[in-house]
Amino acid sequence: MKLLSVIVPCYNEQENVKDFYEELFKNAAFFQEKDIAVELLYIDDGSRDKTADEVRKLHGQDERVHLLSFSRNFGKEAAIYAGLQKAKGDLVVLMDADLQDPPSLLPEMYGYIEEGYDSVATRRVTRKGEPVIRSFFARMFYRLMHRISKTEIVDGARDYRLMTRKVVDAVLAMTEYNRFTKGILGWVGYETKWLEYENVARNKGETKWSFWKLFRYSLEGIVAFSTLPLTVAAVMGAFFCALAFVMIIVIIVKTLIFGDPTSGWPSLVCIILLVSGVQLFCLGIVGQYLSKTYMEVKKRPIYLVKEDF
Ligand code: UDP
Ligand code: MG
Repeated sequence: MKLLSVIVPCYNEQENVKDFYEELFKNAAFFQEKDIAVELLYIDDGSRDKTADEVRKLHGQDERVHLLSFSRNFGKEAAIYAGLQKAKGDLVVLMDADLQDPPSLLPEMYGYIEEGYDSVATRRVTRKGEPVIRSFFARMFYRLMHRISKTEIVDGARDYRLMTRKVVDAVLAMTEYNRFTKGILGWVGYETKWLEYENVARNKGETKWSFWKLFRYSLEGIVAFSTLPLTVAAVMGAFFCALAFVMIIVIIVKTLIFGDPTSGWPSLVCIILLVSGVQLFCLGIVGQYLSKTYMEVKKRPIYLVKEDF
């Protein structure tokens, strides 16, 4: 008999806990047919509503349901990591609580594992029902990542993924503090089958990601999986040095041959502004990497447990 661990990060999802449970076990016949035992791990990421109570209620009725709750909100990435650590299954699947990752896809995904794939990932091909600017920036982000990172990060990839123990252990071996799971999963490799589906609207409640949260998250992804910005900073520095060198020669020649004293401070002001702007920009890039390094060096725990059963 195989054990399947279902990991569900929850942040203020009280209305969805029960719906998710019911939707997941609509696959009961499939689980039975394939001789799969299920453990359902809700990871409560510091919710301030009744999410934990809802899970406790479910645990009372069905001991396959488990809860791990955090001392505060540590973010979805931390919740995924905690879930992977807690999971005992031979197979592990990550799913959102809001049913945007339809559990009805599980039998198909399992089919590919049986065929020999190590992990089955999903991507949505449409972004229906999402704000237009958000889709636009998401596209830009993936296009940029594709250019600047060697790690493959697929456009529209969801965290919804069925993985074998081998993959889970590989992900757990990456103990970094700044966790960008989409990148980590691309980085570990293995045979991955991609399934595509149309975007599904959230079941109940509201999205937990504001535009700025997503923006910061995308910066994190860039810093974690590409060092190209640092190279760009260095190249820009070199470019301006070369330019300065040429200008010095031009001015010397002009003064000596034409006797033209350097005129006009407006051009000087523009140059100073431009160059100091570029300098600050590059310093900012270095700062981004430094701050991430700082957080890594501190080796703080990725999450703190409040309750675990
Ligand atoms: N989530 C979490 N911690 C957070 C934010 C979100 O555990 O700080 C969970 C949330 O409960 C949900 C999943 O991550 O199960 C995806 O969040 P959401 O549906 O809000 O994101 P969206 O689908 O809009 O990208
Ligand atoms: Mg969602």
